[in-house]
Amino acid sequence: MKPDAASLTRLRAVVDATGWLDDPAAMAPYLAESRGRLHGEALAVARPRTTAEVAALVAICHEQRIGVVPQGGNTGRCGGGVPAAGQLVIALERLNHIRAVDAAGDTITVEAGCILADVQAAARAAGRLLALSLGAEGSCRIGGNLATNAGGLNVLRYGMAREQCLGLEVVLADGRVWDGLRRLRKDNTGYDLRDLFIGSEGTLGLITAAVLKLQPLPRAQATALLVPASLAAVPALLARARSYGDGGPSRFELLPRLALDTACRHLPGCRAPFEPLPQWMLLAGFDGRDPRVQAEVEALLAAALEAGEIVDAVLAQSGAQADALWRLREAIVEAQPLLGPSLKHDLAVAVADLPAFVEQACAALAAALPGVRPYVFGHAGDGNLHFNLSPPPDMAPAAFLDAGPRLRELLHGLVAGFGGSFAAEHGIGRIKTGEMARWKSPVELELMRRVKAALDPEGILNPGKVLPPPA
Ligand SMILES: Cc1cc2nc3c(=O)[nH]c(=O)nc-3n(C[C@H](O)[C@H](O)[C@H](O)COP(=O)(O)OP(=O)(O)OC[C@H]3O[C@@H](n4cnc5c(N)ncnc54)[C@H](O)[C@@H]3O)c2cc1C
Repeated sequence: MKPDAASLTRLRAVVDATGWLDDPAAMAPYLAESRGRLHGEALAVARPRTTAEVAALVAICHEQRIGVVPQGGNTGRCGGGVPAAGQLVIALERLNHIRAVDAAGDTITVEAGCILADVQAAARAAGRLLALSLGAEGSCRIGGNLATNAGGLNVLRYGMAREQCLGLEVVLADGRVWDGLRRLRKDNTGYDLRDLFIGSEGTLGLITAAVLKLQPLPRAQATALLVPASLAAVPALLARARSYGDGGPSRFELLPRLALDTACRHLPGCRAPFEPLPQWMLLAGFDGRDPRVQAEVEALLAAALEAGEIVDAVLAQSGAQADALWRLREAIVEAQPLLGPSLKHDLAVAVADLPAFVEQACAALAAALPGVRPYVFGHAGDGNLHFNLSPPPDMAPAAFLDAGPRLRELLHGLVAGFGGSFAAEHGIGRIKTGEMARWKSPVELELMRRVKAALDPEGILNPGKVLPPPA
């Protein structure tokens, strides 16, 4: 239903002159997903400055049954922020104040539009660490991080966005505000509403502010690039690593030969760390509250070598060397397009199942599409792999993309067999609702639909995202 002119005038009057965009050129950046793969349309883009303005906009949308699409940094990978015709984008980028830093209580209270890197910097300025860290941290925003329950590099030690959040302020579907901005570590007063909104991708409410947990700043860090004896050795190696350093590694990333080879051949500043490159490598980062962490990691390498879990390793001897190793981790993401189009899968299995899963998946893929190149990397420490696929060298891009649904079905079927997840950290958005229908149990889907109906009975919040249409 197209809103009448009077409703549009009321919506526009909520925000200041620079807070309302309806010119196609000005709206364009808000209509496309960050990689430009999905394009949407919208009634307009509203850029409120305060929670009260967000609430007023949503109240009018509720009354007029106008779909609302919240947006943070628009770095999401699943099209969750892409609007459809007739919907209002509410971009939270101007709700970007740090409301309070409580260094003694280890919390920071921020508005949803704060850029993650800015919040990290504010925490650091107060001598504290905000542990949430991901590749898009220079542009993603806290509201988006919480709405997608973002993971990233430090999950192994500090948990996902959910575990780093103590409280939320949320604008509900009818425009009321739920003030759950609590700084409590313990609060068993009924159902946990906060955890319902986290990870709901804008389909249950608009997050306008959050209380996040802070940690002590590490006094020292150590970084090692390990060559496991085989993939099968990885779970034991991780278990061993956990008892070294100060609580084990914070980051434990899998890097494959294909990716490092591509990055080191083509990207400036990337040097192959081993010659020849092994099939698999693991990049481990340790945060220490004790400066002896480097010696601890040296001892870990010796023990793992002796146990036959690793066959080689590089231990960074300086901050510059550590940065160069982490640059390799970033470079493999940049390098993948050099191999042609990519079929991306964001999978998780239990860490103990990781070797068997990767082995079976690679064998099944090779049988299904001979020559396909698995470009598998990511957060091995928490069982989350970006199981991306690059085409056989001589295959036409269109034919490869046509094979996508068949290969996805194969991989997601295997993941289901291992009791894993087909959407480990990037969420569902628009592009994986079909997978929800395919792999979620009817009971789980029904419970989710009931939650949605209870919190958004008119279905105005981010329509068409997360839940598949009823069968
Ligand atoms: C280079 C790169 C690396 C990445 N690495 C990781 C990674 O390691 N781990 C990871 O988990 N993700 C990663 N991502 C994905 C993405 O950065 C995260 O999902 C991020 O948390 C999204 O934040 P955003 O502000 O950009 O959200 P957006 O893209 O703007 O929105 C994402 C979803 O949240 C909803 N939303 C946004 N703001 C709000 C709000 N205030 N209230 C309610 N709903 C809201 C939107 O409607 C949409 O459904 C990466 C992305 C890029 C481009």
